[in-house]
Amino acid sequence: MLTEKSGASIAAISALHGGPAMTTTAPTTGPAEGTQEIQDAGHVDVLIVGAGVSGIGAAHHLREQFPDRTFVILDAQDNRGGTWWTHRYPGVRSDSDLFTYGYRFKPWRGPSIAAGEEILAYLDEVIEEDDLRQSIRYRHRVTAASWSTEDRQWTVDVTRDDNGQQLRYTTDFLWMCQGYYNHARPHRPEWEGMDRFQGVLVHPQSWPGDLDLAGKRVVVIGSGATAATLIPAIAEKAEHVTMLQRSPSYFFAPPTTDELAVTLRALDIPEEWTHEILRRQHIAQTDWLAATAREAPEELHAFLMESIRPLLPEDFDVDKHFTPRYRPWQQRIAIVPDGDLFAVLREGSASIVTDTIETFTEHGIRVSSGEEIPADIVVTATGFNLSVLGDVAFSVDGEPVDFTERVTWRGIMINGLPNMAYIFGYFRHSWTLRVDLVSDFVGRLLAQMQKKGATMVVPTLRPEDADMQLRPWSDPENFNSGYVMRSQHILFRQGDREPWTHMLEHEQERELLPELDLDDGTLLYR
Ligand SMILES: Cc1cc2nc3c(=O)[nH]c(=O)nc-3n(C[C@H](O)[C@H](O)[C@H](O)COP(=O)(O)OP(=O)(O)OC[C@H]3O[C@@H](n4cnc5c(N)ncnc54)[C@H](O)[C@@H]3O)c2cc1C
Repeated sequence: MLTEKSGASIAAISALHGGPAMTTTAPTTGPAEGTQEIQDAGHVDVLIVGAGVSGIGAAHHLREQFPDRTFVILDAQDNRGGTWWTHRYPGVRSDSDLFTYGYRFKPWRGPSIAAGEEILAYLDEVIEEDDLRQSIRYRHRVTAASWSTEDRQWTVDVTRDDNGQQLRYTTDFLWMCQGYYNHARPHRPEWEGMDRFQGVLVHPQSWPGDLDLAGKRVVVIGSGATAATLIPAIAEKAEHVTMLQRSPSYFFAPPTTDELAVTLRALDIPEEWTHEILRRQHIAQTDWLAATAREAPEELHAFLMESIRPLLPEDFDVDKHFTPRYRPWQQRIAIVPDGDLFAVLREGSASIVTDTIETFTEHGIRVSSGEEIPADIVVTATGFNLSVLGDVAFSVDGEPVDFTERVTWRGIMINGLPNMAYIFGYFRHSWTLRVDLVSDFVGRLLAQMQKKGATMVVPTLRPEDADMQLRPWSDPENFNSGYVMRSQHILFRQGDREPWTHMLEHEQERELLPELDLDDGTLLYR
């Protein structure tokens, strides 16, 4: 396999693939024909995969810009919301403000940091207002997508999760809004002794609705946003909650009430203005935080440490439990509104252990110090299994696509994959800011194709990109969360120059994307 260490260049990869494939053969992927009848589900102009924040946003923009184009949204789950439908553990909430996590086109009327249910209700309103309900197909898992240059279309194979039926759609344009992780299979490391543990083992990605916490001793393994939101939400019910972390994360404790929102909402002005002003305020704050994280990380570190110290019990070992080993914002900073996590630590209904797990025992967990933490319930808030484009098996003109040999085109398209765009949000700013920007871009691209009379657009490497050095999907210096680092080996790459790079900050992209030259020599139209 080609790696950065082996000095893989795009020339080597192009040679392997002979550049953009042009021959047409029958699709090689998809359900084994003959084993079950495949039902023709028809043709749509645009097929959107995923009914989360990205897919619903994409559908809104598509409908607004191209009211006459047909589309369908397919989602493997049995309801809308993606992340917010999957994660329904107690206390689940956003960790960025909803003025920027909400869409540009629909004012957010609730609190700055919102509960999962409030976000679902907001998405329901968008679905209602845009009349999207009849365009969404639930329990439709996309398993394969095969492009045919001769037919100028994608064939999309789908398995219905409720009855096992195999369906086949065709579409002119495939819009992947599948998010970044496997919703059905969360990440849970294997620890010694897990099989002899006699209590209940839970993952926040599949929280049992009937889990009784009353009087239970709960251990939450993890140090990120999920652990930090779950613990205050269950501390009152449980007998005691212990946060067990291997190493600490950064936290920030803003007030729950956004003072500017209160002021603006008291005025007799259109709510669209309020929404826009609050968005600008929060974007500017995040710009500042992102710039400080880059340019003065020690100062930001000191600021974050000093802001949480007064919220913790006296004599608390802040260095041990709350001083991360990485620079601020090399991983997401977890938000704890009004410091609710620290409040339960102060009250004593929760405590924190920073150590490594030696083994599970029948009645708890023993850590390396020798301490045994008793547990009736263990919650493994240990994160995600990243999935590449929804684990869909892609092929182009009969050639299976190996994503590790591909590069991104500005974090929106992939070299050699015609008529396909994907949405991946920001790490530091709210995800949704990028949903709106990428949707604008896709709208411009579709309009450009129409203007040119083209039925195909494919990001293609230029001759001068032949010696381009490949870099990992995420530079660990920039962003090194566990779920990303665990999966770099299965992800597509980026190059060392535009447009083959991604993960710019919103500050750069909000200027760049609307102005992009659609005839830059890398987007080939036919
Ligand atoms: C608890 C939690 C809190 C978060 N809070 C924030 C926050 O405050 N701010 C922020 O910016 N980000 C936050 N994030 C990140 C969050 O995931 C994104 O903000 C956003 O929800 C991603 O939306 P999406 O629609 O792109 O993907 P998802 O929400 O992952 O939805 C994708 C959908 O696509 C479907 N799908 C995937 N593959 C297939 C397939 N092959 N066939 C059919 N359907 C498929 C899935 O079933 C899913 O329903 C949070 C994440 C978590 C887990």
